[in-house]
Amino acid sequence: MSPDSRIDPRPNRSRRSGFPTEAGSPNLQRKGPGSRPRPLRTRTVSATMLTFRGIPVSPGIAIGDPLVLDPRGSRPPHRAIEPARLGEECDRLSRALDAARIEAEAAEAEARRRLGPQYADILGAHARMIADPAVLRESRTRIEQQLVNAESAVAEVLEGYAVRLEALTQSHFAARAADVRDILQRILKQFREEAGSPSNSPALGSDPHVILSNDLSPSETAGLDTRMVLGFATEAGGRASHTAIVAEALEIPAVVGLGRFIEDARRSRRVIIDGDQGLLILDPDAETLARYQLDAEARADRIRGLAQLTTLPSVTLDGCDVELLGNIEFPEEIPACIERGAGGVGLYRTEFLFLNNDHRPTEDEQFAAYAAVVRSVGGRPVVIRTLDLGADKLPTYESARIHEHNPVLGLRSIRVSLRDRELFRAQLRAILRAAALGDVRVLFPLISTLEELRQARAALRSAADELVSEGIECRADLPVGVMIEVPSAAVMADALAREVDFFSIGTNDLTQYTLAVDRSNESVADLYNAADPSVVRLIAMVVAAADSRGIPVTVCGTMGGEPLHALLLVGLGLRSLSMPPHQLPEMKRVIRAIRREDARLLAEAALQEETAAGVVALLQDGLRRAFPEP
Ligand code: PEP
Ligand code: MG
Repeated sequence: MSPDSRIDPRPNRSRRSGFPTEAGSPNLQRKGPGSRPRPLRTRTVSATMLTFRGIPVSPGIAIGDPLVLDPRGSRPPHRAIEPARLGEECDRLSRALDAARIEAEAAEAEARRRLGPQYADILGAHARMIADPAVLRESRTRIEQQLVNAESAVAEVLEGYAVRLEALTQSHFAARAADVRDILQRILKQFREEAGSPSNSPALGSDPHVILSNDLSPSETAGLDTRMVLGFATEAGGRASHTAIVAEALEIPAVVGLGRFIEDARRSRRVIIDGDQGLLILDPDAETLARYQLDAEARADRIRGLAQLTTLPSVTLDGCDVELLGNIEFPEEIPACIERGAGGVGLYRTEFLFLNNDHRPTEDEQFAAYAAVVRSVGGRPVVIRTLDLGADKLPTYESARIHEHNPVLGLRSIRVSLRDRELFRAQLRAILRAAALGDVRVLFPLISTLEELRQARAALRSAADELVSEGIECRADLPVGVMIEVPSAAVMADALAREVDFFSIGTNDLTQYTLAVDRSNESVADLYNAADPSVVRLIAMVVAAADSRGIPVTVCGTMGGEPLHALLLVGLGLRSLSMPPHQLPEMKRVIRAIRREDARLLAEAALQEETAAGVVALLQDGLRRAFPEP
């Protein structure tokens, strides 16, 4: 399949920089008559196909009904419904209102018993408001006339009441507005409970949908019930954002950085997400739909074909072994690693246990997660990275976090661990205990100075001493590595190499910090390129430093799993690459089709290049030679 060539391939503008106007939006390609500003469509005329281009972050094709999530759960998911399902939707509404009323009545009785009539009366008033026939009647009317889901309809109705109350000047009416919003939350909770969704995740309904949202934080993405999510598309986000990383882990097609599309999406009935080309198509026409259905089948065949590579060695045509490892965020990803032939886990991002959690995981909870991973990898190595919290990875339980103006340069990752010693201690103890069960190695993220490494190592030693003195089983001498993902660490790699057992290059952050380009910001996504000569030269320095001390080095950033970069990385001397499990078969195919000598020559040439475009041209040429067109 080829992308619609008329679409401007530039990524979109950010919320932060202000959205482009709809008519001039570079991401919008309308199929249909004329190229004038798009007329507002109504839901009764047959829908016009709209195509948006963004940044592909997780491959695959998703075709399905859209579900629009509003920012940070401020409004419930909005879904268009088929006329045939009107009755069902009205029944859902009645059930949620009944359940909310019963809950409010029970709360009233409890309050009367424990707190007295003053408080109980407030809850009694809530129960009566929920039972008010006008709420049911007006919400039903919205469902029937606008063909929307029940939670969206009742939210619009109650929000309308609240806004009208707020407009009245007497202060007691404003207080009533707060009551109305409270009641709405009570009702929305019933919808979530009926759908079996956790309290901090949006209710996704009972059928799988394509999720459309302005943005999703890594914790929101991690909290999605994957059985109900066919794929997702967001207006914001960049190629190496952590949200993108979670999408890959969940193996759902995803496109981010699409620019403004939500208002159009609210009216659409069916959507396609093309996670390979980075497209979102609203209301595809019959021809496009058929083409994508065929494409999805061809894709499935291709993946089945690649599965045959699983048991073959990862070795170049001229006999050079290149170890391929899996990146994981959740213990549940281990089977995907093993099935696809991973030599072990090259990066376990442990912070995901903290995201979308209602409390800070204890040492024992962390140990249980690590032990599950170590026990299920069948003796293969597991690199456990200490917490990389901060910036966009904020635990849901930590709402009172200090606001930082520049969080990517702020209290993030190892800096958090070194400040919050109790947090660090519990994690190090859990890792040391898990190390007694198998081949565990510990990795410190975002090290930017030698002092930081020394402090982290000292904390590890003291955690080990504690465990030994308590007689708790652990492995105190496990291998210790650092992530090289800050330019200062790359420059000082020779000094760092003397004090660690291995390096792991995090090209996502290394690119972000070297080029001063936010990896999650779609407005500068075109400036983000891991193949920039500055990044390539830093990688070469790190490999040289590791070689001179005889320590192994892995690339575990997104670059390590991208076929385009395989020749360059092998040519620069890398013999170990770690990636999301779904990329393992394709990378093995590439490794088995290249020669170390060609890769070396290509890397030599890349180190002479002065622009990213020059390096990319070399890489594309190299890949074409490895896989000549039939
Ligand atoms: C990286 O920065 O390349 C990396 C692997 O770490 P993360 O993506 O989790 O920041
Ligand atoms: Mg990183």
